[in-house]
This record gives sequence, structure tokens and C-alpha cells, in this order.
Amino acid sequence: MSELQLAGRVAVVTGGASGIGRATAKLLARHGAKVVVGDYRLLPENDAEFAELVIEQRQVDVRREVELKELIEFSETFTGRIDILVNNAGIAMVKQIVDVSEADWDACLDTNLKAAFFGCKYAIASMLRDGQGGAIVNTASNAGILPRAHDPVYSISKLALVGLTKSLALSHSKDRIRINAVCPGPVGETGMMNADLDKAADRAATVKQFIAASPLARAAGRMISPEEVAASILYLVSDAACMVTGTMIAIDGGKSLGVPPL
Ligand code: NAD
Repeated sequence: MSELQLAGRVAVVTGGASGIGRATAKLLARHGAKVVVGDYRLLPENDAEFAELVIEQRQVDVRREVELKELIEFSETFTGRIDILVNNAGIAMVKQIVDVSEADWDACLDTNLKAAFFGCKYAIASMLRDGQGGAIVNTASNAGILPRAHDPVYSISKLALVGLTKSLALSHSKDRIRINAVCPGPVGETGMMNADLDKAADRAATVKQFIAASPLARAAGRMISPEEVAASILYLVSDAACMVTGTMIAIDGGKSLGVPPL
């Protein structure tokens, strides 16, 4: 049997209604996991495909600890535990510090960082109960490797998410709970990217700029896809990565390596 098979495992994916989370939920389900998607925006367009893959959908605001607790408790009802958590829900925040309100800060940090922390709290408690271990993946960003000038609050949230990943990985390796991060570059066909492009004065030129910023995307002449990020998440939650923890995989086509050639 392939080491990527997840049969018998329960996986929770936050922000699974669209983009990277949706691609991840579908890929994990296709590899045999019982998947529960938690999102504050459940989209009817997912109903048929999710039903086919027996993916459960729960309306959850990940900024609220109590709702994450309920999501994990619901997910435990299938086998008594959860095996996999993907903390993927996230929002952008393209503002300079002088324009950032306390509400902006809270919205971004609560969604991108606090939610992952409390998701880990309840997932780790579930995984600790029977000593069988588990796997957690946090969706960070290339902004979690190198901060970006245009979105300092987002960069701070993702840099801290990488810090959270390493810290909790260190604390829970002894429990066979592996905690890793993925750091995607600009990913097309996502709510986040579409929102950016909708704001752009020249959509086609902006797409070109995103592609140009990422050397492999540029060589391929296209953006990174949600499915390409999901493939790394599948690897990290599977037994193929059984000795991998506290690390991050950059799925950014080389964007975070340095300044690309002209
Ligand atoms: P997306 O907007 O398609 O997906 C984000 C999902 O999170 C949505 O379904 C949204 O409803 C959900 N969500 C947001 N706030 C929530 C909340 N409070 N409670 C519950 N659900 C909530 O965009 P995406 O690009 O697929 O984003 C997924 C992750 O990938 C995010 O963490 C994002 O920061 C990260 N990321 C995206 C890119 C990119 O270029 N798209 C690059 C790097 C990292």
C-alpha cells in the first residue's frame, strides 16, 4: 500500500470551502481519509463533489476558540479521535502600518495565527489521548519565510505561524505528533488571489507580475495551482513524512530564494 494512503484516518481542514483548502480536502478524501471541512462560508457549489467524496462540512468561525473545539469534537465522533489537522483558513491584509486599525490587526492575527494555535490545542489533546500520534499542517506563505513590504500584518501573522509550527513540533515530537507548514507562493484559482486580481487596474498585467515573481511559475508560464499545494500537504500528513516535523515546504516556484533573473 502506498505510504500516501490515509484510509481509516480522520482529517480536519479549515478554510476548506475554496482554494487551497478545498483542493486539500478533496485530495485527502481521495486518499482514503474521512475529511471534515470547517469554514465560515459554506458554498453550495461544493455540495455534490463533497457528498461524492463523503466530505463533511461544518460552519465554523476559526477566530472563536469554542467553535474550533466543537469542530474537533464533531470530527472525533467518527473514530473517537482525529489523525490530521490542516490549519488553512486565512485572510489577506494589504495595508501599511499607518492605515492598520486594531480591528484589522485582530482580524488578520486571529484568523491566520490564533486559530491555528487553538486548532492545535484541541487536535493535540485528541491525538494525545491514545498515544497514536498525528499530523498537523499549517498553511503559511512565502511571507512566512521572508516578509513583504506591501502587507506587513499578513507577513507578521505568517512568520509567527512558522514559529508556532516549530515550537509545537519541538514540544510534541515525543508524542509522535508531527507539525509542519507549507509556504505557498502566488496561487491561482483561490479566493485570495481572485480578490487581489479584482482590485487590480489591469488584471492581465497583474497576473503577469505574479507569475514573473516566481521563477518556476515564470518558466511554466502559469501560476501555481491549489492542487500543487495540496500535494505537499498530502505528503506532510502521510506516513511518507513520518520523520519530518517542524519544517516548511516552500511551494512558491523559487520565489523566496532571492531576486530572480531579469
Ligand atoms: P481562499 O480565500 O480561497 O481560502 C481561504 C478560506 O478560508 C476561504 O474558504 C474562507 O471562507 C476561509 N476563512 C477565512 N476566514 C475564516 C474564518 N474566520 N473562519 C473560517 N473560515 C475562514 O484563499 P486561499 O489562497 O486558498 O487561502 C488558503 C490559505 O493559503 C490561507 O491561509 C492563505 O493565507 C494561504 N496562502 C494563499 C496564497 C495565495 O496566493 N492564494 C499564497 C500563500 C498562502
